[in-house]
Amino acid sequence: MQYVSTRGQAPELGFEQAMLAGLARDGGLYVPRDVPQMSQGDIAALAGLSYEEVAFRVMRPFVDLPDDVFRGLIGTAYSGFGHAARAPLVQLGSGHFLLELFHGPTLAFKDFAMQLIGQLFQEAMARKGERITIVGATSGDTGSAAIEAFRGLDAVDVFILFPHGRVSDVQRRQMTTPDEANVHALAVDGDFDDCQAAVKAMFNDFAFRDGVGLTAINSINWARVLAQVVYYFSSAVALGAPHRKVSFTVPTGNFGDIFAGYIAKKMGLPIDRLVVATNRNDILHRTLASGAHMKQGVEPTISPSMDIQVSSNFERALFDAYGRDGGAVRQLMDELAQGGFTVSQGALQSLREHFDSGRCDEAETAATIRAIHVATGETLCPHSAVGVKVAGEHLNPAIPMITLATAHPAKFPDAVEAATGTRPPLPPRMADLFDRPERVTRVPNTLSAIQSLIRERISQ
Ligand SMILES: *Cc1c(COP(=O)(O)O)cnc(C)c1O
Repeated sequence: MQYVSTRGQAPELGFEQAMLAGLARDGGLYVPRDVPQMSQGDIAALAGLSYEEVAFRVMRPFVDLPDDVFRGLIGTAYSGFGHAARAPLVQLGSGHFLLELFHGPTLAFKDFAMQLIGQLFQEAMARKGERITIVGATSGDTGSAAIEAFRGLDAVDVFILFPHGRVSDVQRRQMTTPDEANVHALAVDGDFDDCQAAVKAMFNDFAFRDGVGLTAINSINWARVLAQVVYYFSSAVALGAPHRKVSFTVPTGNFGDIFAGYIAKKMGLPIDRLVVATNRNDILHRTLASGAHMKQGVEPTISPSMDIQVSSNFERALFDAYGRDGGAVRQLMDELAQGGFTVSQGALQSLREHFDSGRCDEAETAATIRAIHVATGETLCPHSAVGVKVAGEHLNPAIPMITLATAHPAKFPDAVEAATGTRPPLPPRMADLFDRPERVTRVPNTLSAIQSLIRERISQ
């Protein structure tokens, strides 16, 4: 399988090279040159299989690894999950289901991708006898998932940049309590977009990038998107696909998770609507409503993993909407750097063929957590509540709706307690999180400070 850049000026790469590269050298994102198809029969045959076997069958055409090796990596990746189904479905009401994606080691859906990517990197580096430096920006959940996936691997140093004071205590402690020497948690004096910009800038500094063996594990990494395609298949099949259509609502920040749903649809999964759910940082909702993709300031919310204005993976959707014209995408991204752009009429129409959208403000998020708690006993995290609220506006009695529950409520206990009156407990396997010592380095929001810190740490 070959991968091309959304900006059309980087070499085509195979799966492993695209995974190790992260961002393409022209600043673009890798996407498959051709999306492999699964027939009705292939999809029907997934019914009743284990999550791991579904994962193997869905991802195999995208990956260039021997079958037995790939099966082994998948098995290890999901062995640390706290639920045998990995991604269980719960019914919320008539025709509305919740896909619980929070049973991994850091209690958010990002574990699905990160645990697999940890195994894939380890296998590749062991085979090549090389060393890499992983750098990621996080609004909270990516960083802890990455640290959990890479801690203790001796061919890897992992640096995670997070906005100081803007992640929850649980998120921060999941990043700062692992004591392995290859784990480096950096608290940046800035917001998430600043952290993400610093990571992008390090990738565009080729001397630095090559000097430290820089590798990205942010949601721009194709391998992460790929791992997330799997649960669209497993959940849709559980509700009757391919014989019945389903729709999905996805709490969205960087557009990685919902883009995985779009890939599942392109592979042949009968998905009716993909609904983008945003909090009050609603650039994607505004874009789909009006075509105007204009940045505003990031406003902190009780769903912090979606407090994003620059939604990196949206570039992948734009690439398709513009007929895979890398030049057009380059131009849009130049305009975005100046503040924003307007999606062309044709491209907007093409996006709207797949995507709907909605927004949920702070009061509505809290009200949804409360209402669902009372009506079903299910405790939602604030991100999942944004999804459930927006899904409620897009229900169609003929087609089941699956809302993705992206984090465990105990990751955001203050918001959940404020809404329900009950503090959600951490699962027993991580109950001692608040007793473990923390290790974190505070850094100024400048590229040079971050780069010199990384150089210094990896030379030790
Ligand atoms: C990352 C994250 C999201 C947003 O996912 P994207 O792939 O960035 O759109 C939503 N909810 C939670 C809990 C997350 O960690």
